[in-house]
Amino acid sequence: MELTYKSTRDGSIRVTSSQAILQGLAPDGGLFVPERLPAFPLSFEEMAQKSYQELAFELMRLLLTDFTEEELRDAIQKAYDEKFDTALIAPLVKKDGVYYLELYHGATAAFKDMALSILPHLMTIAAKKNQIQDEIVILTATSGDTGKAAMAGFADVPGTKIIVFYPKGGVSMIQEKQMLTQRGANVHVVGIRGNFDDAQTGVKKIFGDAGVREKLASCGLRFSSANSINIGRLVPQIVYYFYAYGQLIRQNAVKAGDPFHITVPTGNFGNILAAYYAREMGLPVEKLLCASNENKVLVDFFSSGLYDRKREFILTSSPSMDILISSNLERLIYKIAGEDCEVTRALMADLQSKGEYQITPEMKRKLDVFYGNFASQEETKEEIAALFRKEGYVIDTHTAVASRVYRTYREKTGDHLPVVIASTASPYKFARAVLSAIAPDRLSGNDLDLCRTLFEISGQKVPRTVEEISSLPNLHDTVVDVPEMEGEILRWLGI
Ligand SMILES: *Cc1c(COP(=O)(O)O)cnc(C)c1O
Repeated sequence: MELTYKSTRDGSIRVTSSQAILQGLAPDGGLFVPERLPAFPLSFEEMAQKSYQELAFELMRLLLTDFTEEELRDAIQKAYDEKFDTALIAPLVKKDGVYYLELYHGATAAFKDMALSILPHLMTIAAKKNQIQDEIVILTATSGDTGKAAMAGFADVPGTKIIVFYPKGGVSMIQEKQMLTQRGANVHVVGIRGNFDDAQTGVKKIFGDAGVREKLASCGLRFSSANSINIGRLVPQIVYYFYAYGQLIRQNAVKAGDPFHITVPTGNFGNILAAYYAREMGLPVEKLLCASNENKVLVDFFSSGLYDRKREFILTSSPSMDILISSNLERLIYKIAGEDCEVTRALMADLQSKGEYQITPEMKRKLDVFYGNFASQEETKEEIAALFRKEGYVIDTHTAVASRVYRTYREKTGDHLPVVIASTASPYKFARAVLSAIAPDRLSGNDLDLCRTLFEISGQKVPRTVEEISSLPNLHDTVVDVPEMEGEILRWLGI
């Protein structure tokens, strides 16, 4: 049965999955959502025997129904291959009584690879399917990891170009170096003088600008998005939560059907929304723990029902979560509003005009499955140090935020149900912050020196992307102010 996607802000906008992937954002500024979430058709025992690729196929065929089986298998094979440094793709490891789902074994050592290694293939298939002759221009704002993962995915993919905006000074040295050394004739990286929200708001505005769209169209170009608002990102992320549960079963941590918790270090709300969708599809998730850093707008939202972005933006040791507007939350709002586009649109208009919105008590009750809390930078550091002392296992700052929030939850509630923590980046991507937790007396040198030190101390495997950047030349050096973003795009595209 064909599954269509509609906009969160206007129910009359309906497209196929391939069209939703091509468009990224709906034309009214809303986000595409599946009209319903299909039930997972396999038994969990069966599921536990599947490889990552097989499971990806079983799930994606349910949600991307206008792709043929052959197209999906082809995209999956191309995405989840030797770019990953383990055949498991996303291993689940038990440390100190907690299951860490390592999502950082792909090309750029962050969980964004899980979706961005497949999105370019879905997108080029989608273009063919819809008889699109235009070249696709991917426009992306990044808080550090998305940009590199998107460029790695799209580099030299025929029929595509990609432009990435990142906050200059708002990402780690390794992240920046990873982006600036990206090869590919079709990639362009631009630093902006502003923070991630400025970059994201700028990109959204350009997307929504009919004048710019027309200019592109007259040159045979069209925008699309690789940000986590694209359902081509969201759908592949649902896979690893089922896969994690299969591994829990295989490791005898649960019996098939038993409940478990998921904890996700959250920024734009994409990763945890995928877990929520997995639950809606039948995965027995008891609680979704939404972990924030000191930019704790979501924590306050879950406790009060008021989403209030009017606050100081704090640069933390987990920069990929330094976000005050969590775009994907709109999809959850739509759900708890009873799939009401009017309500969703009104709340998003409030956010735009007043910087806040308040949900009704009835909507708030539907958030019961979520537990929101945050970890300070000091607590994050302690978490990394404590886990390393106990297990010799090093986690990155983002994962540590989640790990700490989970422990707080467990202490408060005494709830010992098995928990899966999404481990979203290799500790080497944030070597300075990680070392300052486990070996504060060994912080001399630049971030690459610190990676070597971290290896000496931990013996944990250094990702290829980190190993190779010291020998690669910088290929990009553009920096612009926020109002110049549009001009820079047109200039680089030669319009
Ligand atoms: C992007 C990112 C996050 C946040 O994920 P969202 O889907 O934006 O909530 C967390 N950790 C790392 C390392 C990331 O790159």
